[in-house]
Amino acid sequence: MISKDSKQVLGMLENKKTIMVAQIAPAVRVSMGEEFGYNLGTEITEKLISALKQLGFDYVFDTCFGADVVTLEEAYELDLRIKNNGPFPLMTSCCIGWRNHGLQFYPQKLKKLSTCMAPQITLGALINSYLLKYLKVKDDKKVGVVSIMPCILKKQEAKQEATIGLEEVNFVLTTKECADLLKYKNIDLKKCGKTDFDKYLGHATQAGKKFGATGGVLEAVINTYAAMKGDKTRITIDDDKPLNEYSVNIDGKKLNIAKVWGLQNLDKIIEQIKCEKKEIHLIEVMACPFGCVGGPGQPTPVNNEKNKKRANALRKYAKQENMETPYDNKDIRKIYNLYLDKIGTEKTKELLHMGFIHSKIKNNLKR
Ligand code: SF4
Repeated sequence: MISKDSKQVLGMLENKKTIMVAQIAPAVRVSMGEEFGYNLGTEITEKLISALKQLGFDYVFDTCFGADVVTLEEAYELDLRIKNNGPFPLMTSCCIGWRNHGLQFYPQKLKKLSTCMAPQITLGALINSYLLKYLKVKDDKKVGVVSIMPCILKKQEAKQEATIGLEEVNFVLTTKECADLLKYKNIDLKKCGKTDFDKYLGHATQAGKKFGATGGVLEAVINTYAAMKGDKTRITIDDDKPLNEYSVNIDGKKLNIAKVWGLQNLDKIIEQIKCEKKEIHLIEVMACPFGCVGGPGQPTPVNNEKNKKRANALRKYAKQENMETPYDNKDIRKIYNLYLDKIGTEKTKELLHMGFIHSKIKNNLKR
């Protein structure tokens, strides 16, 4: 049995009228193997790329590269807030579960939310704009972007953007849906060769690769902020605690930062900040246990032991990469030089930041 979305994707792959592009989220590469008899926490990125090509995708790109671009823009937002003395904390925005929760329960806190779009939408925006120039797509061919994600809510995220006239991502398939689709087409990951991501966009750094495990986004933004300031400080956040705080000195300033998974823990830290009148500069918020590796779209059944192995596998995978932050990523510099201009300009705001969330925040703040 395959899902309705999978049937539609398959139809597009088979009719060949559309250039089909897939992107793979960080957390998927350490969980997909479970569906094909691999040991828990086996990282199968190159085999999955090969399987998606067999399925009929023309190009396969790495959502981690989108995460790198998000990191760079978010580090710039942090820098602006530090220069302007707030508002703090800057709260990460790449978790749609948290954003939905925030819109409902913390509308007043949403002005503190980063305006960066999620990595899948950011990458989709770059595919539909910058990349099309390089692919020299003929006028009669459309491009279909399909995100392979650990999270069913990512379907809603793609639709939200579509409702404001952007269609960066046409379909989202969860890890489980994608596994079912591969099995339906008799594609066994174990029998697939290894293929690398298509090169046109670029190579992701450690920062973007860790986005799927708790603490990964916080580490990415802080290290990128340090790189931006010419400070050699780097932090590693590899603990799986549901709620943890850290302090780090960058560019002569002490920054208090925190990460949370599980929305009940977010309530705790917000209370704590109020009671202790504490200034926290940056908080990573993820709705799911251990971050996106524990998302509602991953193979089931899940438990903490399984999620821990997935999170550790993702960290190990990220460490194999030499480049630490997107600030040092030549591929990203090239996109900014050729197309986006500087970080934080009108063009990046229009393409990579959330108009939708902005209007929702404004509406909520008026109430
Ligand atoms: S933490 Fe969970 S709800 Fe949030 S984006 Fe990741 S998988 Fe989705």
